[in-house]
Amino acid sequence: MSLIAKLITLRRDLKAKKPNRCDRCGLYYNDDQKECHHCKGLSDEQVARLQDREQKTQFGNIWRLVLVFVGLAILFGIISMMI
Ligand SMILES: [Zn+2]
Repeated sequence: MSLIAKLITLRRDLKAKKPNRCDRCGLYYNDDQKECHHCKGLSDEQVARLQDREQKTQFGNIWRLVLVFVGLAILFGIISMMI
């Protein structure tokens, strides 16, 4: 198979595996799954809790990233003062 043919196949596969966004919980699930595995069988209250937890996780990840950058900035600041 030529490289171009491989790329075309890869592109088609990626398109086919494009995740769906669940209307109920807002999370993503694979196209080959008929329903969302995140909120399937959950009550509305549980879905609300799931969304809340997911939002907090995303917020926590952003905060962690910010803290890493601030830490690195301080570290480089100290190093540049020592030189
Ligand atoms: Zn869902």
